[in-house]
Amino acid sequence: MTADSISIGGRTVEAGEKRTFRFKCSETYHGDPIEIPVTVINGESDGPRVFLTAAVHGDELNGVKIVQEVASQYAPDAINGTLVCLHVLNVPGFLAQQRYVPIYDEDLNRSFPGNSRGTMAKRLANTIFEEFISKCDLGLDFHTSTRNRATMYHVRADMRDPAVERVARAFGTSVILDGEGSVGTLRRSACRDGIPTVTVEMGRAHRFQTAHLDRALHCVASVLAEHEVLSDRPVSWPGWTRVVARDREKTWLRAETAGLVEMEWGPHPLVEEGDPLFTISDHFKDHVEVVRAPSTGLVIGVLENAVAYQGHPLCHFVTLDEETVDIIRDDIEQGVFDIYRQGGFQWPEPRWYTKQHSRTGP
Ligand SMILES: [Zn+2]
Repeated sequence: MTADSISIGGRTVEAGEKRTFRFKCSETYHGDPIEIPVTVINGESDGPRVFLTAAVHGDELNGVKIVQEVASQYAPDAINGTLVCLHVLNVPGFLAQQRYVPIYDEDLNRSFPGNSRGTMAKRLANTIFEEFISKCDLGLDFHTSTRNRATMYHVRADMRDPAVERVARAFGTSVILDGEGSVGTLRRSACRDGIPTVTVEMGRAHRFQTAHLDRALHCVASVLAEHEVLSDRPVSWPGWTRVVARDREKTWLRAETAGLVEMEWGPHPLVEEGDPLFTISDHFKDHVEVVRAPSTGLVIGVLENAVAYQGHPLCHFVTLDEETVDIIRDDIEQGVFDIYRQGGFQWPEPRWYTKQHSRTGP
């Protein structure tokens, strides 16, 4: 079926048209416009409207590159439906290369769905939500860890909602953290409005990490295939998936004492109960605290700076069942995780499967 034109961000994009523009979302102290770079690719054929958003935290750059690549790679004659690419959401934070909206350090990702009479972040959120998000059918919001931390490539999704689960599984990460997200997050607000949305987390802030970027572009295509935006591409399956239930199976391990931190885990992220993960020592090595794995599980996020204070989060840890442990052990033997630690917490390209050729099935 031929597509309709779409009115979005104050523009009309015709069926079969690809349009880039800058959308004024706020003003600087000078009264100059603050503008979000936008690409809308409206397919020649009908289909869902998919949004892709990056840098709601201004220093989280992997997603900016992913959205740039998606915006440049897809053409209107190759898709059914519409891709709405918002290249940078938190423009003031991006310009300052910091996480929060610089004025009053507001978190834009705790400000959705926003308020047209609220603070700068609330107004920004409201404008983005009204002008773009509310006009879409599903979405992907790209994040990285905050500075001085690294996170494994994973998805966060409210798996109670079948439409959200469909997006999350199609994205094809091995680890899915189940939960609706904090109040004010873009994905929680979008999901509450019936727009299934997942958060994609990967790597570090302040840089592009090629292994993550390549994998993410593959995963975006998989979501587009699942929702028939792409007609001739299979849906990918990473070979194993672990949905981590709310709270019970994931935890942040924290430093009990302050000091100098050395990572002991590795080279693979799979650790056995009791394995040392970190040591924390004072300058004189009079006191050395060893932080151990509370169970057999996976290190999915780590502190990267070498110092910690009391209560500092050191490691995001997920407990695994035996079946998943066996699959990961097999992957380790096959060399899938060989550059995991040395590569700066990058997750190598997995062995992809399709729904037709899955190892255990999604
Ligand atoms: Zn973030």
